[in-house]
Amino acid sequence: MSGNDDHITRGMQEYIDKSNTYLAERATYIDETVKNWKFDTIAVHGLYSVTDALKDYQGSIIEPIFMSTSQAYNDSDEMAAALAYKIPTWCYSRIANPSTYYYEWTLALLEGYGFDGTTSCCSTSSGMAAIMTAVQPFLKILTKAGEPRNFVATAQCYGGTFQQFSIRLMQERDIECRWVKDATNLDEWASKIDKNTRFLYGELPSNPQLGFFDIEAVADLAHSHDLPLICDSTVATPALLRPICHGADIVVQSVTKSLTSSGFGICGAVIARKNLVSNIDDEALKEDFSLAVKYLQNRDFGPNLHPMQAVMTLNDMRTIRSKMDLMSRNTEKVAEYLVGHPGIESVQYLGLKSHPHHELASRYMWLVDAEFDDQYNRPVNRYGHLMSFCVKGGVEKTRKFFDNLQRIWRATDLGRIKSVATIPAISTHQQQGEEGRALAGIPANMVRLCVGAEHPTDIIADLDQALHAAKNA
Ligand SMILES: *Cc1c(COP(=O)(O)O)cnc(C)c1O
Repeated sequence: MSGNDDHITRGMQEYIDKSNTYLAERATYIDETVKNWKFDTIAVHGLYSVTDALKDYQGSIIEPIFMSTSQAYNDSDEMAAALAYKIPTWCYSRIANPSTYYYEWTLALLEGYGFDGTTSCCSTSSGMAAIMTAVQPFLKILTKAGEPRNFVATAQCYGGTFQQFSIRLMQERDIECRWVKDATNLDEWASKIDKNTRFLYGELPSNPQLGFFDIEAVADLAHSHDLPLICDSTVATPALLRPICHGADIVVQSVTKSLTSSGFGICGAVIARKNLVSNIDDEALKEDFSLAVKYLQNRDFGPNLHPMQAVMTLNDMRTIRSKMDLMSRNTEKVAEYLVGHPGIESVQYLGLKSHPHHELASRYMWLVDAEFDDQYNRPVNRYGHLMSFCVKGGVEKTRKFFDNLQRIWRATDLGRIKSVATIPAISTHQQQGEEGRALAGIPANMVRLCVGAEHPTDIIADLDQALHAAKNA
């Protein structure tokens, strides 16, 4: 990610040589030490080491929060080298910052766990900013104004993603989003690709419908057209699914959700494999997508993450594997209970054998490192803590049930350590209207429930009393 090579003074060259030595040492540390760690160890430490702490951070065992806007330089040579991106730098916190640096490395390593290649990450202020960051570079005009551009995306997706694609891109910028209605149908994906297509985009499992697709098959299809596959795998987290290991080029995360299960703030990330596939002629972008968007596009648009948020989220991510295991098991119990309940019309959870995507999801969703866990000693499927169900008796009964919840929070949120429920048709998916909801498959009596880490019997008791109250209302 270098600027032009003019005017490299001898003093600048000394800084560049020194930083190249540092980068080589870091690469060795990653390859020979960090890459040999299990997932939990990476989640706990990332790249923040005792050496870093003692050298630069007064021995602080937790990554420091660097609130400073900017970094000072020794002299003009160092400044010139830094601002030309010839040496790693954090110059100004809109571009980079030491706290967000550790956040980015932890996420790059977790999404790349088990991947036979290198990944990098660009932090963003939110999940929506991550999606914007990931798709924007592929949509640039290549030849002339008014040139047709399109991309292909799963219709089952987060409400905000639907709005970004259908309003901001389609309506306002005339970039066509071609929705795939049945993401398990490879022919439907293929039929929507033409010479003006720039990327394929899929959310899995989708929020809230739990849509799924065969990542490997869709990645192969994308690559056969010289296109990247971008996946939103917020609902799974890298503890259960790592799309890059299955051929995806870029992953976007609403890190706000399960990765920051405490609910302390909004944040996002774009994680990409090095040397990704694209039909756009931009070597820097293809070689290290995350770094390119971080240093150029996001420098100019400014959707940067706050350093305080980065470290608070790091603290949450350290235990993501055991939390996703526990909350998945709790959700399974709640789902099984609701299946037999007379007040319930249907239950959607990937862990239920009756779910149409159960088999497909079982190929992809595994608790990472379960085979090294004393409790299991073998691979085990885990399906996350998002589920939904439809209440018998239509919209009115659904609202009555919802209004009677006592322990479960009524909020448009998910991924929390606390159980949270919402009615998507009146909240997250309200803005897209009836037609959009029909396309995405969101009935009015659907309740989205994200089960937390409480004891499941208490959550079941709350659901039961609320269903009872709705029935008698
Ligand atoms: C919440 C969410 C987003 C948006 O993330 P924010 O952090 O709220 O901006 C994107 N994708 C999915 C699947 C989500 O659940």
